[in-house]
Amino acid sequence: MSDELLAAEGLEKIYRDGIKEVRAVDGVSLRIKRGEASAIVGPSGAGKSTLLHMLGGLDSPTAGKVYLDGADIYGLSDGRRARIRNREIGFVFQFYHLLPEFTALENVMLPALMSGKRSGGKKDIKERALDLLRAVGLEQRLGHLPSELSGGESQRVAIARALINRPKLLLCDEPTGNLDSKTSESIYELLLGLQSGYSTTIIIVTHDENISSRVGNVVLLKDGKAL
Ligand code: ADP
Repeated sequence: MSDELLAAEGLEKIYRDGIKEVRAVDGVSLRIKRGEASAIVGPSGAGKSTLLHMLGGLDSPTAGKVYLDGADIYGLSDGRRARIRNREIGFVFQFYHLLPEFTALENVMLPALMSGKRSGGKKDIKERALDLLRAVGLEQRLGHLPSELSGGESQRVAIARALINRPKLLLCDEPTGNLDSKTSESIYELLLGLQSGYSTTIIIVTHDENISSRVGNVVLLKDGKAL
């Protein structure tokens, strides 16, 4: 197995709005090693989210390529790309997107239940969800609904949910953007702890430059270009 999990070559995303053109991502190339923690850092509007979405197979580039484990993901059919995204990539967003009518435990189990047999039986999935909820420190909150959880707790559930299908890659888009500084710190600790404990490869998009000293690899983005 090669050391490299993810590579981008000459990635570009141009939005056209009438005659105006926004070069949201402007020729970014990068390489991410397996098991590494990386941050994509830069001011608001720099193109960080657009870049992360393209790396995760959520948004096609205007030009350039993304390789996940050597596969050119935008060279695949939409169906195959969606399967790779569901099985191999976990996403954590600023707003937790938990389903309000399901408990914490059910929210974590859902992506695995929806992936069919490959994810194991319901009993296995429940065991895995319980392990993950313990790992994120929420064993006391299993039966709570999202409306009964704090922001930090909701994000912990979202992180456990992102890991339930054992993804190769965990992509986090401003995971602490909606949290106070103390809670943010605990979420970073958790993410970086999971990264070393579960050897997940993780990429965190943030405007918070404090994260830079804590990860192995920093991509500084400005006006769509990697500096
Ligand atoms: P960041 O995550 O660093 O704040 P974004 O990737 O969200 O930056 O946005 C980069 C640039 O692309 C900004 O100028 C933004 O206004 C523009 N942009 C993002 N999404 C769209 C879109 N769907 N249509 C037009 N412009 C967009």
